[in-house]
Amino acid sequence: MTTQPESDASFFDGLTNRRRAVRVRLGASLEILEKDQLIADWPLDAIRLVDLKPDAMRLRATHGQELARLAISDEAMMAALTGSCVNLLVEDHTRKASTARIVLWSFAAAASLLAVIFYGVPLAADRLAPLVPASLDRRVGEMVDSQVKTIFGDKLCTRADGRAAFGKLVRALERAGNLDISPAAEVLDSRTPNAIALPGGRVYLFAGLLDEAQSPDEVAGVLAHELGHVAHRDGMRMLIESGGSSFLFGLLFGDVTGSTAAIFAARTVLNARYTRGAESQADGFAIATMHALGRPSQPMGEMLFRITGNQRGRGPGLLASHPYSEDRLARMKAADGGQSGPPILDAAEWQALRNICKPEG
Ligand SMILES: [Zn+2]
Repeated sequence: MTTQPESDASFFDGLTNRRRAVRVRLGASLEILEKDQLIADWPLDAIRLVDLKPDAMRLRATHGQELARLAISDEAMMAALTGSCVNLLVEDHTRKASTARIVLWSFAAAASLLAVIFYGVPLAADRLAPLVPASLDRRVGEMVDSQVKTIFGDKLCTRADGRAAFGKLVRALERAGNLDISPAAEVLDSRTPNAIALPGGRVYLFAGLLDEAQSPDEVAGVLAHELGHVAHRDGMRMLIESGGSSFLFGLLFGDVTGSTAAIFAARTVLNARYTRGAESQADGFAIATMHALGRPSQPMGEMLFRITGNQRGRGPGLLASHPYSEDRLARMKAADGGQSGPPILDAAEWQALRNICKPEG
């Protein structure tokens, strides 16, 4: 007999506002216990996702007290529930799935199904990600993007001279890295030092990273690392890997609606870690891109080491790969080719970039 996953959770009974500390046990159903007393027992196929934050999910059940909610922040339990609750992403008032969505998803879903059957999902992800049409990447990226803005705020930094400098930096990296997906990069007005790449080529540099940066080469290298994830389509790969067969079947048969698929995609992209292999490839891309520009690769390693090493909490993007290990820094140092090319930004442009979130004037 295998042990049943258990974790702490918060329960709201739907009758009062009180948050009740409970224990949940996942077996043939989801048992909710308060001081060892069973207070609710949810059939797995009745469990639905209400919403999610970067590190918590809220659930409800279609049986029993309609307004009851369960909040779970235990990572292993969230993963176990995502795998066990076949209807997690189903909306009950299912609208007819739009034709456009079915067309968008069908290619990936049909191919995924075959791959699930023949190879198992992890291998499928590697085989599939390069085959998924760019339009699907963009669509998923848009869905994740709306969730990112809900979580981190949607204020972008747009001071004109800063944007010009940022655009110059991104274009230089795009050319040097030979990207075949044109990235849409923006600076997000958030004080956390972070950067994240979403499927479809959307890249956010969090303004906190500019506060921490000591040179344009540090910022360029970190951005190049994120562009490496874009070039390798790591977001889509992770989504296919994490989706599991129920998600893929849902996509194929159209009972996963746009909004729930968006929540799933966001949860995956914002919570999951890229594999060591994916991180190493993104580092390799960043090193090659900096070389092509005649710029050093060591500064990016130092910056990544500095910010992920200091980070106590967890987070998406860069922070998910915390801590940036000694061996990765050593690789950046060993590969450093010095400064054979001109600075990517001059002193005035660098200043403008650092002030990109300040008001105009
Ligand atoms: Zn990374």
